[in-house]
Amino acid sequence: MNGIRKDVNIILDLTIVVIVFMVVTIYNTYPKTLYAFSNSNNRAAIVSRGSKEDKIIALTFDDGPHPEYTVEILDLLKQYNAKATFFVLGKYAETYPEIIRRQIAEGHEVGNHSYSHVNMKKVSAKVIKQEFEKTQDIVYSIANIRPKVFRPPYGNYNDDVIKIVSSDDSSVVLWTFYQDSKDWSNPGVDVVIDTTLSKVQNGDIILFHDYVYKPESHTVGALKVILPKLVDEGYQFVTMSELINLSQDRKVLNNFN
Ligand SMILES: [Zn+2]
Repeated sequence: MNGIRKDVNIILDLTIVVIVFMVVTIYNTYPKTLYAFSNSNNRAAIVSRGSKEDKIIALTFDDGPHPEYTVEILDLLKQYNAKATFFVLGKYAETYPEIIRRQIAEGHEVGNHSYSHVNMKKVSAKVIKQEFEKTQDIVYSIANIRPKVFRPPYGNYNDDVIKIVSSDDSSVVLWTFYQDSKDWSNPGVDVVIDTTLSKVQNGDIILFHDYVYKPESHTVGALKVILPKLVDEGYQFVTMSELINLSQDRKVLNNFN
């Protein structure tokens, strides 16, 4: 009897060890998941890709509006009936409000990319708040909408950024890690095309720049090839908020790649 009791005790001990191990494992992974859906409307706090179940792509353009390139990009998007998201800098939105109004009128989403492109990891919470809210207010004063998506410059964020952005019912949006062509550095039209098309997958968030500090933009040239190709492949271009909503509905939002 003692032998059997001993065996039972060993089994019980082992079971307890396994249960403790499982609880610790679940506890360690759970906060990330919870964190991603932490704001009031259960809107995702951090997003870097969308649902792989749908043939959707979010085209995103940072640093604008630019008086020439943004307009050329808008013309191209119109030609292919493609919707995109423009993460604008407050200082350029102020300078080119008519471009913001056109973006909204043509069904695109306007997101916030800070006022002056600061590195959010290197400034105080007070400055983060100012940079974020000033741009929210500028876009509101131009187009009567408050952006629902915020992309921190350089993809750099911390807890203060998440807290401040979430408190205005917005999401922090990054990009799918392999979808960064560094088009702002004019690497060549072919490089931009290849980066985008060679790895493209359902639910990708593609990072482009409509403001380029160069006398020409390789982004515009690349889009002339990328857009018809992706249309041919059957992709649908959605705004960031559409991608987030669809992916949340499917409960497959992958926040941290
Ligand atoms: Zn930027």
